[in-house]
Amino acid sequence: MLLTNYEPEIIRPPCDYSRETVNAIGHITGDISPVFPYLNAVIPGAEYQPAGKVLRFKWEGHVVTLRPDEMAAGGFNDADEAVDFLARLQKLINDTWERRHTIQPSEVQRKRLVATDVYRLLPRTNCKACGQPTCFTFAAKLTMGEVTLEACPVLTEPQFAAQRAKLEEMIANAVFL
Ligand code: SF4
Repeated sequence: MLLTNYEPEIIRPPCDYSRETVNAIGHITGDISPVFPYLNAVIPGAEYQPAGKVLRFKWEGHVVTLRPDEMAAGGFNDADEAVDFLARLQKLINDTWERRHTIQPSEVQRKRLVATDVYRLLPRTNCKACGQPTCFTFAAKLTMGEVTLEACPVLTEPQFAAQRAKLEEMIANAVFL
């Protein structure tokens, strides 16, 4: 087991009573950074900085930041929810570490999608078949992971095959947080 012990700390943003969510940090005994390339390989849209030993990703609707001696996440309704999440995160880390021999580690440093880059590759008909008012709105939502390429039926037409392939490649190497 890689992550054996951690001390949970629950943080409420100070002097901001309009925010009702709490954040959580697990202060870790030891160094969990050896698991980062394996998590980076299996979690879609993760953002990995090998030099700084920081891994960020979205999991169960929360943005997680892992450092060698710390796991942090935010947006919880209360302390119990935050503590439960840290326990599940510990399990994710340890389960991934246990099966590391079956995973090809990755040091890929993904980049965030830029809406204008996505837009240029869309059919740009503004046909609304995806449920969005314009192709640019679709592009913007795609960069945030709120829609998928499958929602655009026009992209399945043969004349857009090359553009779709390029978009799929961009998405496979993109950060979604
Ligand atoms: S279905 Fe495709 S082409 Fe039509 S508006 Fe949506 S993104 Fe644009």
